[in-house]
Amino acid sequence: MAIEQDCTESQVIVVGAGPVGLLLAGELRLAGADVVVLDRLAVPTTESRASTLHARTMEILDSRGLLDALGDVPGEEAGHFGGIPFGLGLPGPHPGQWKVPQARLEELLGQWAADLGADVRRGHELTGLSDTGDGVLAEVRGPDGTALAFRAAYAVGCDGENSAVRRLGGFAFPGTDAGRELLRADVTGIDVPARRFERLEGGLVVAARRPDGVTRVMVHEFGARPRGAAPSFEEVADTWKRITGEDIGAGTPLWVNSFDDASRQAARYRRGRLFLAGDAAHQQMPVGGQALNLGLQDAFNLGWKLAAAVTGHGGEELLDSYHEERHAVGRAVQGNIRTQALLLLGGPEVDAVREVFAELTGHEDVRTHLAGMISGLDVRYEVGPGDGPLLGLRLPPVDLVGEEGATTTAELLRQGRGLLLLAPGQEALGARLRAAAGPWADRVRVATAASAPAAEEGRDLPGGAALLVRPDGHVVWSDTGRAGDGTDEAGTGDTALTAALERWFGAEPARTPHRPARRDPVTIAPAAAPVRERSNGMERLAGRTALVTGSSRGMGRAAAIRLAEEGALVAVHYTSDEAAAREVVASVERDGGRAFAVRAELGVPGDVDGLFAVLEQDLLDRTGSTDLHILVNNAGVMGGVSADAITPDQFDRIFAVNAKAPFFLIQRALRNMPDGGRIINISSGLTRFANPDEIAYAMSKGALEQLALHFAKALGPRGITINSVAPGITRNGNPVFDVPEAVEQMAALSTFNRVGEPDDVADVVAFLATDEARWITGSFVDATGGTLLG
Ligand code: NAP
Repeated sequence: MAIEQDCTESQVIVVGAGPVGLLLAGELRLAGADVVVLDRLAVPTTESRASTLHARTMEILDSRGLLDALGDVPGEEAGHFGGIPFGLGLPGPHPGQWKVPQARLEELLGQWAADLGADVRRGHELTGLSDTGDGVLAEVRGPDGTALAFRAAYAVGCDGENSAVRRLGGFAFPGTDAGRELLRADVTGIDVPARRFERLEGGLVVAARRPDGVTRVMVHEFGARPRGAAPSFEEVADTWKRITGEDIGAGTPLWVNSFDDASRQAARYRRGRLFLAGDAAHQQMPVGGQALNLGLQDAFNLGWKLAAAVTGHGGEELLDSYHEERHAVGRAVQGNIRTQALLLLGGPEVDAVREVFAELTGHEDVRTHLAGMISGLDVRYEVGPGDGPLLGLRLPPVDLVGEEGATTTAELLRQGRGLLLLAPGQEALGARLRAAAGPWADRVRVATAASAPAAEEGRDLPGGAALLVRPDGHVVWSDTGRAGDGTDEAGTGDTALTAALERWFGAEPARTPHRPARRDPVTIAPAAAPVRERSNGMERLAGRTALVTGSSRGMGRAAAIRLAEEGALVAVHYTSDEAAAREVVASVERDGGRAFAVRAELGVPGDVDGLFAVLEQDLLDRTGSTDLHILVNNAGVMGGVSADAITPDQFDRIFAVNAKAPFFLIQRALRNMPDGGRIINISSGLTRFANPDEIAYAMSKGALEQLALHFAKALGPRGITINSVAPGITRNGNPVFDVPEAVEQMAALSTFNRVGEPDDVADVVAFLATDEARWITGSFVDATGGTLLG
């Protein structure tokens, strides 16, 4: 196989584009890792293998803003344990079980992952997998049978029960073979009574008619052994008749299959650079819809950890915690499913056990115990020292009044970052903890709940003066306020917070991102005019949003394109030249990026509010949130009028566009900007290099530079950086750049003897927007190509 050519590189390969693989892909993108998803099937399956979502899964979807898109989901609190009815309700907004066809869930997650930039390739079958020392190499049969190769730092098998990753990766998969099976058929044209886990003398039967007239029948004959092959509809109808006496043989089967009670679990969920999640990691009888939920929760646990590893914020210990946490949960779920299989499919010999179970479920503490287990709400991870009732558990969904009004804990987790949640009334402690978390501002959001009303009993934040929450919603550190004086006896206080931050979010400073070694090293001549190439997939701004003012042309255009290449969703702002702005958007989209155009004239009354009204709606439509992570104040006007000729109106106009508008844009943007945001103002070398024809312009840029100095101090606690970038003479499409003599004169001002290109400045802007520039704020960055050297 010719794998040296056409090798597609990414940071993570996910095999399997089912719900588990797609959720994982979205999580990876959200946290800034690039991912390729490979699936054997050319089109998504329409089979709905599982359709039940439990409370924890609903919370997970909510914490990524995905619930609304599902619309009204039918749900009920009534559940069962091995066919014994009991109530699944627990405190929280999603009690019970919810019916979402698997195909719909896949569509939703697929769209979400794709919107975030995941590269999903169908009709791609994994045929080989090897560890190359610095990464993994996947050999793949493409849609037309061609041999393809993919390389990445890690690969994850989300490819189901018959996982190729598990087989090729040499994972042990011990467990027990099937002893019983349930036959299942979706049939039209039959009319049988509805039956919910009805135990008749000869076996167990289920019949449920859907609104579209299709009836799902399931039947198990007590004592029957699995046949080892898919049943025919005739076999299903014969068994049904033997047990119920009813004839369904004249119906039309739409789908016939069987499932059994085989139970297996991978001995390790991680082998070096390979991981398993979902049914690839554990095979169990699909009873009560727990398998899909378990798989989704695996993906939710793994995504942010893998992303941390490839972006340089997480190491081996963090990756190992995936196996430690999820293998234990998987084992417990398999235990309850085996018990349910026995209660459900056991013959008359289990009747007495069923009676005792039915009696026990009448006790509230037994009911809540079982409901916690089935809904996934009882999962508590071993997260280290500390106190507080929530340690290790998921942060409960609570309505809060935060600094910016009403919100929920789910909303605070939407960015997929960590969360330091400070309860009200602890100002001194809060300030210290905020400072302690400062270095992690790009990974951990700090939020203060101005009040935390207990909307319902049991739904307040119990005893927490402060909580540190992982991106998957689990609480890893809490301070009840008792030992909040910096002491660490109970694992609380700010030193313990620092330890928890280091353990879960990486040591400071961040290490170099892990990427597989590239084959062709590129030598960059420092002062050569840049040749733009599509980024190699290292998207440092994935999941972020940016506004670049005046980006229909010139440096703004280049900056917008550059930020989009880094994975940001970019608002291309313009005022008069709509066609030019649309061309920028099209150019971004051609390269696989995301952008949209926003029109607003700056420097006129109502400019900023008008711009944000449109911008917020656009952001909401595209991301489900109005968060703006990056603001580039680039739009500007020059004067070109000497000091003795400039009029007050001309002077005011220059100041209105170049200084006043950026100030109020920043003021307004800060309402939308999460902690760790970036503000970059495009100034000019003329604040340091005299030109009597541009005194007013230089003054306006001088005023603009002041913004960085003073705002930097104010925004430091939020981890927001603000800097000025000063270009020298830069080609911007002005006709003067077509006059060789003029260009020669202008070039002579730079120590590199050329004029600046828009990309020269855009690269600086892009860098300042990334996490790598977290330590630079309030700064003047000379991007004049050495013009200021004198
Ligand atoms: P440019 O080609 O002159 O483009 C200016 C951009 O700003 C355009 O997108 C324009 O939108 C927009 N704009 C202008 N006035 C506006 C207003 N009142 N409201 C809203 N948008 C407005 O820009 P450039 O030369 O690349 O310069 C970009 C920045 O760098 C400016 O701040 C400039 O002062 C600074 N700078 C430039 C140089 C240089 O040599 N080029 C040197 C140092 C500093 P429309 O196209 O829709 O009109």
